[in-house]
Amino acid sequence: MLVQMPSECVIGVDLGGTKLLAGAVDADLRVHHRAMRPAQAPAQGAVLARVEEVVREAMDAVEAEVAAVGLGIPCLIDLRTGVAVSSPNLGVLAGAPVRDLMAERLGVPVYVDNDANAALLAEARAGAARGVSDAVLLTVGTGVGGALLLDGRLYRGSQGAAGELGHMVIEADGPRCQGACPNHGCLEAMASGTALAREARAAATAEPDSALGLAAAAGREVTGALVTDLAHDGDAVSIAVLELIGTRLGVGIASLVNIFNPEVVIVGGGVMAAGELLLEPARREMALRALPPSRDRVKVVATRFGAESGMLGAAVLALDGLAGA
Ligand SMILES: [Zn+2]
Repeated sequence: MLVQMPSECVIGVDLGGTKLLAGAVDADLRVHHRAMRPAQAPAQGAVLARVEEVVREAMDAVEAEVAAVGLGIPCLIDLRTGVAVSSPNLGVLAGAPVRDLMAERLGVPVYVDNDANAALLAEARAGAARGVSDAVLLTVGTGVGGALLLDGRLYRGSQGAAGELGHMVIEADGPRCQGACPNHGCLEAMASGTALAREARAAATAEPDSALGLAAAAGREVTGALVTDLAHDGDAVSIAVLELIGTRLGVGIASLVNIFNPEVVIVGGGVMAAGELLLEPARREMALRALPPSRDRVKVVATRFGAESGMLGAAVLALDGLAGA
């Protein structure tokens, strides 16, 4: 059935560590057009130009009037000024007044927030945290991002820097963390897509006769996507690698459950292509480690909107911004 074009849309933009996704979205969060580009560019101006390009593609593709643009970016944002204060994974944006620069380029109001906050906003509005007042979101991709919904509001901390759930230590003497993080054994260092690929390479070497080992020996690059595909095909070694990563996620989730007593822990990001192969061991480990009564009622689930959570959440930012919320 054709979805009738509304008279007004917003554009939601998710600027991730690797890909840039824009969608023309109506007030009911229906997506009328999607545009995608690679996210990485060598300089600030080039990143912003690419954002402008996807937004214009989405604008031109819909007949509806575009009233505002929402932007979820992997940065710590000063919400008052719309400046990207810092960014571990997209450093070229550090210090950029992203909101004002993009509003100037696009000629419509622009609303900016952190990408994980945006993803949780979408899930809270219409997804896995709908009707919930306390929720935790983890995005497991190249790194591990996080966001907190506490008492019905996104929790930002005193400087907007709260919710760095990926930098919770789960192994004091674990491997050095990524990017600007000086810590060791963070959830991000132990259970991100990067960690998944590292463990998969080790498993391929240790088990050369497994499907994973044979794929590596045949020259295939051992990535999280490969190990996930092989696990779905039933390779026991690949399944065990995902179980290891899922178990580590469960260790982190147990602490989050004890600290925040959420109704739901939502897991998204690229690594969630593994689905239950990751979530099932995470749930099991959480239940072994967390305290009652929190552990007994909390649900650990996948995002409803998957790879589109961030884009849809950015659209919610724009819709709420227009409504003066
Ligand atoms: Zn860290």
